[in-house]
Amino acid sequence: MSRTRATVSYAPMSESFPFQAELPEAADGAVKIVRKLTAEGHHALLAGGCVRDLLLGLQPQDYDVATDAPPERICQIFRRTRKVGAQFGVVLVHERRKWIEVATFRSDGQYLDGRRPSEVHFCDARHDAERRDFTVNGMFLDPLKRTLIDYVGGRADLQARLIRAIGDPPARFAEDHLRLARAVRFAARLSFEIEPVTFAALKDHAPKLATVAAERVREELEKMLTHPTRRRAFDLLADCGLLPYLWEGAAWQAEQIAAGAVLLGRLPEQVSFPLAFAVLIVDRETKAVQEICRALTCSNEQRETIVWLIGHHTDLDDPVRISLAGLKRLLAHPALPDLRAWAETRYFEMPDEAQRREQLDRRVASVAPEAIRPPPLVTGDDLASHGVKPGPIYKHVLDALYTRQLDETLTTREAALRLMGDLLAKWREEHGEILDG
Ligand code: ATP
Ligand code: MG
Repeated sequence: MSRTRATVSYAPMSESFPFQAELPEAADGAVKIVRKLTAEGHHALLAGGCVRDLLLGLQPQDYDVATDAPPERICQIFRRTRKVGAQFGVVLVHERRKWIEVATFRSDGQYLDGRRPSEVHFCDARHDAERRDFTVNGMFLDPLKRTLIDYVGGRADLQARLIRAIGDPPARFAEDHLRLARAVRFAARLSFEIEPVTFAALKDHAPKLATVAAERVREELEKMLTHPTRRRAFDLLADCGLLPYLWEGAAWQAEQIAAGAVLLGRLPEQVSFPLAFAVLIVDRETKAVQEICRALTCSNEQRETIVWLIGHHTDLDDPVRISLAGLKRLLAHPALPDLRAWAETRYFEMPDEAQRREQLDRRVASVAPEAIRPPPLVTGDDLASHGVKPGPIYKHVLDALYTRQLDETLTTREAALRLMGDLLAKWREEHGEILDG
């Protein structure tokens, strides 16, 4: 488990403007598209995030192409295409078993809704660079001539490790509010600082994040929190004043922010979004947690996992004392690895950390896989065949029996049926008649 703040290390950047390094094989499809467009008389380049990552010696997630060919031309030139955002000049081209984004150089018209331009104009590479968000995201690479094309000072900012808005930072955040979260995400992910004027504009515009669709904000938050640099992302969200605008009604006390940052810093490098998010909202009521998840448009599965993790996050604190049934119920849950990771970050604060870790390993190893979820000795059918009326008694009796079965104090069906009889009698004493008719 990593306990230090995660940082990113870079391969040395090529010093000369011509781009010397071999392109990874993953770039083949995009390079093939560039070659074809060029052969057809067009200007075509690799663009944006892939150029940034290549210069940093990181593995790009995908390779995007930008070109002066308009969408209709792109569709004529390539056999398999899909228009995804033709009004913004974006076409997907199928090459080397992948769909690759090919976008026509464009400049954005006016932004009216704080998210999308009302219209776009096709233009040249320079103007296309200027509509991009941050200088490090605004570069092009000509993979045929092996040159870097940098109209926005992206290379200098990569070297200085700075996230800087292209053009006038306040204006750029004002036109598209999602950039507020993107600035934080890239700064954290790359371990860059945010350039001071950009940072000031970010702070000024922070409340505008509230106008961005919850889904988009959640996607950004997911990317930030699942990356090893999640602690830095959270610190930046706090410093920029974005935390109160992550979801409708978001409220953070200073202690919650401080505690959240510490917990995030202790998580292992690879964690799920539900775990990373759960540690941030652990001290809130279940109902509030559910409301937060709804406001962020989390999936049902995410919401249930977050609620479960928070509800059980202390269960493994003392691995010796948890009951066998309790342990098996945790082992049966798909989010157990997350719960364990959380438990281990809690041991970190305890004096006998290593011992607890060992005890947990031993307890978990002592449960045979087939013993985790045995078929119940007694089911609802048994209650029904005894004429028990439907109602809360079913859950009460079946849960009690299954707990004893998991604890291995109840091992035969006969014993289970006897105990069922006792439990029914006790319930009748306390709650009255339970039989049908
Ligand atoms: P990642 O590795 O996370 O995909 P990326 O830089 O490729 O990072 P994308 O969201 O895939 O980011 O966008 C591709 C490029 O499009 C960016 O590098 C940037 O040039 C431009 N871009 C994306 N979103 C915006 C935006 N909201 N405003 C301006 N330019 C943007
Ligand atoms: Mg991308």
